Amino acid sequence: MTRIAFVGLGNMGGPMAANLVKAGHQVSGFDLSEASVKVAVEAGVRGTSALSDAVRDAECVITMLPKGQHVIAVWRDLTTLLAEDTLVIDCSTIDVESARNAHKLAEVMNCISLDAPVSGGTGGAAAGTLTFMVGGSEKAFALGRPILEAMGKKIVHCGAAGAGQAAKICNNMILGISMIGVCEAFGLAEKLGLSHQALFDVASTSSGQCWSLTTYCPVPGPVPTSPANNDYKPGFAAALMLKDLTLSQEASKQSGAATPLGAHAASLYEEFEKAGHGGDDFSAIIHMLREKAGG
Ligand code: NAD
Repeated sequence: MTRIAFVGLGNMGGPMAANLVKAGHQVSGFDLSEASVKVAVEAGVRGTSALSDAVRDAECVITMLPKGQHVIAVWRDLTTLLAEDTLVIDCSTIDVESARNAHKLAEVMNCISLDAPVSGGTGGAAAGTLTFMVGGSEKAFALGRPILEAMGKKIVHCGAAGAGQAAKICNNMILGISMIGVCEAFGLAEKLGLSHQALFDVASTSSGQCWSLTTYCPVPGPVPTSPANNDYKPGFAAALMLKDLTLSQEASKQSGAATPLGAHAASLYEEFEKAGHGGDDFSAIIHMLREKAGG
């Protein structure tokens, strides 16, 4: 049993904290939203109304917050609150630079730190089947691994500080580009008179096979559980896809990588969000692509 403070009890953090409770840890939780704290309390988390109360006596602090600025603000506050050698883990998806700066703040606190973003969405958070992509020292990873295992089924040590975030944005750049590719292929198939099922049957067992096709197929029918069969409700919201593509573009510019398709995917998702579809599943971009073809 570890005494864990969980900060950020939203769509992801709430169920993740609940799984830590189920695994036998003693979990205190804090969120700016009282409603989120209330839900976590129902799952066995000790609710608090201040960060200082949540992290008192904590051996491990986990943050699951929207963006880099929120993580840095909370970790700055932690610098005056934590005992030496506390393990601090950020599971949010944030830019690589903020992740590295968070690790530096942990160094100032003489704490041990990991960046550990996740994939698997809210379903994976609830089921405890998330994949964690982890950056930090071997020592920090060895300490964090058993805690992350209570919330996920695959825990990958990607390298030093920031490597987890780097893996996350590279993976999601592939996802954004591949979804647009799959949508374009269905759009072309429609124009050529090829049925959705025929394209799916061929591509899902050929070289066009990818997760965007076989799990989140953007047309209703071939994959009954894909969001296309549920009125394109997320799933994985287009706004989150845009966030991750924007993070990968920032990282490309800073590191000097060439990612022209990543840039184009980001601009298409930006257009989709501006048209009011940020809350739709990211596979719904197929509608915008059809409109570009004139229907
Ligand atoms: P969310 O908006 O549901 O939850 C974030 C929570 O953080 C909110 O409850 C908010 O009140 C709280 N918060 C913000 N600032 C705070 C502060 N200073 N102190 C305490 N609480 C604060 O978001 P989410 O969907 O849970 O996502 C969290 C992170 O996980 C994001 O970085 C997101 O990109 C990433 N992520 C989300 C998904 C998904 O499918 N939702 C999948 C993978 C990764």
